[in-house]
Amino acid sequence: MKIKLSIALRKISLKVIQKWQKIFCNNKDLNISAILCYHDISEKEWDWSVTPVEFEDQIKYLLKVGRIVRLDKLIRSGKENRSLFTITFDDGYESVYKNAFPILEKYNVKATVFILGKGKHTDLLSEAELLNEKQIKKLRSAGWQIGYHSKIHSNLNDLADSDLVESLVIDKNKLEKNLSLNFRYFSYPFGRYSKKAKKVLKNEGYKAAFTIEGSEYKNKSDLYRIPRVTIDKHLYFTDFKTLFTSEGLKFNNLFTKLLNIKDRLQK
Ligand SMILES: [Zn+2]
Repeated sequence: MKIKLSIALRKISLKVIQKWQKIFCNNKDLNISAILCYHDISEKEWDWSVTPVEFEDQIKYLLKVGRIVRLDKLIRSGKENRSLFTITFDDGYESVYKNAFPILEKYNVKATVFILGKGKHTDLLSEAELLNEKQIKKLRSAGWQIGYHSKIHSNLNDLADSDLVESLVIDKNKLEKNLSLNFRYFSYPFGRYSKKAKKVLKNEGYKAAFTIEGSEYKNKSDLYRIPRVTIDKHLYFTDFKTLFTSEGLKFNNLFTKLLNIKDRLQK
């Protein structure tokens, strides 16, 4: 996916939704729940880096329009629980501990970080430092949830069966022992999932797995294909507010689907 083209298209579409909301609805429909997916919280020039200042503005906004709850609480929530948000981080960059954690502590928000196994990570999006064991343990004792994001961060669709088991199971067991925890949640690298991967995850005892399909969270979602909304550097605050409305997330889901079809056709 050419991120520049998709960002430009998203920007235009969110502006159209803003205009439409201004004309047709005085009360934007905020009655939605969503799981946000961040990567790096820093001043880096990377597309998936969000600055600490912007991150804090976004957290403050979500707390103004709803509540931010832990991932397990959102999954257990009933239909009546709306305007719930959950914060997740993929890849486990050190900036999550250094920059995001102090901000979230200020607002008593407990997030989830999906970490990678040990080894050479292929196709990782950034060369940034990853969390060390001590930092992961500190996050955990502060009430965060720690999920798994595979051993080497490759697209699970490209892996042979034995490599799939290696990537989702074998290294995970070692890591669980070192960190004295059990992974209950998994986030698919690049959001790419397959029937086979879902089956391995279920057999291995994971309770839920997460994609980046960009739509709102509904409690009837398939537990091994729960959508999250990716936040990137180019999503400015006004657009962020438009995105987290019912219309914004409907559009975002459609947009993500179209980009996935385009990606598949180009392969
Ligand atoms: Zn990732």
